[in-house]
Amino acid sequence: MKSASFWLDTAPTVSTTESALPEQPVDVLVVGGGFTGLSSALALAKRGASVALCEAGVVGGEASGRNGGQCNNGTAQDYSGLVAAYGEQKAQSFYQFYNQAVDSVERIVSSENIDCDFRRAGKIKLAAKPEHFDKLVRTHEALTKAVDP
Ligand SMILES: Cc1cc2nc3c(=O)[nH]c(=O)nc-3n(C[C@H](O)[C@H](O)[C@H](O)COP(=O)(O)OP(=O)(O)OC[C@H]3O[C@@H](n4cnc5c(N)ncnc54)[C@H](O)[C@@H]3O)c2cc1C
Repeated sequence: MKSASFWLDTAPTVSTTESALPEQPVDVLVVGGGFTGLSSALALAKRGASVALCEAGVVGGEASGRNGGQCNNGTAQDYSGLVAAYGEQKAQSFYQFYNQAVDSVERIVSSENIDCDFRRAGKIKLAAKPEHFDKLVRTHEALTKAVDP
């Protein structure tokens, strides 16, 4: 059973055609009209490619239309854990990809004039239990030193 989505219930619907495949040949056929497919199609089209996008259901109708709307940097996994698993360099670049992703969202929102109330509001990470605190302190130290002062 699917949950209701505030975004889907209030956003204007995207006009689509019913045909399964584009009538004209295209340079690139993008499968899936979520954030990934839509931003890829946009980037390709802006570079001059002819692009068609196929969506099996509703554009933005799956994860992209059902999320919390928080555009955070950082990883769900603890940064020290990332360093332990992949080494400092990979962990750093992994983390920085997230910064770039937030920048990309801001850039697209601005260049496409998307009315979505995007704003940078900062982020707070809290210890939910006393035993989480030491880990947060270690992560904070590692991040401040290595990647994100
Ligand atoms: C409940 C929830 C909360 C979340 N909260 C956040 C959040 O606060 N912040 C955050 O950054 N991320 C959040 N996420 C994650 C984020 O929403 C997803 O990472 C992102 O939307 C994925 O986008 P996508 O385009 O890759 O996938 P999707 O949005 O799922 O798009 C894939 C599309 O492809 C279509 N498709 C699949 N197969 C085919 C096919 N064969 N032919 C044609 N079309 C096809 C699907 O119908 C779908 O529309 C959340 C996710 C969920 C589910």
